[in-house]
Amino acid sequence: MPSDCIFCRIAAGREPAFIVYEDAQFLAFLDKYPQSPGHLQLIPKTHVRWIYDLPEMGTIFSVAQRIIRAIIPVLSADHISVGTFGREVHHAHIWIVPQYGRDRKISEGSGRPIEEDRVKMMQKLRAVLSKEVSK
Ligand SMILES: [Zn+2]
Repeated sequence: MPSDCIFCRIAAGREPAFIVYEDAQFLAFLDKYPQSPGHLQLIPKTHVRWIYDLPEMGTIFSVAQRIIRAIIPVLSADHISVGTFGREVHHAHIWIVPQYGRDRKISEGSGRPIEEDRVKMMQKLRAVLSKEVSK
């Protein structure tokens, strides 16, 4: 685990984050620079550079699907954009970006982050995800 990896530090509990979902392998938290309300990052707890470096790439997408289906009604989102980038943080991650009406283009390292009440959002999503996903 590279000690300079921000996502590894979050996974190890050594860096604060607004965590909304956690299981044995994966962790989801509010993006630090959200593109829309409820913008999440889903990461494997183990450090790998790209999601296709995971032993089984489908698993992280299954978790993403369960998270997405659970949060859409809670957020009243039209749909969710899903993306993988990884040029800025070199730890595999999936962007989960709720879309409301007019789509926000999702891209890494550009666009002004929106303001949101992080604690309130975290509590709202954590409440539904602890019921719906952790089965
Ligand atoms: Zn890492």
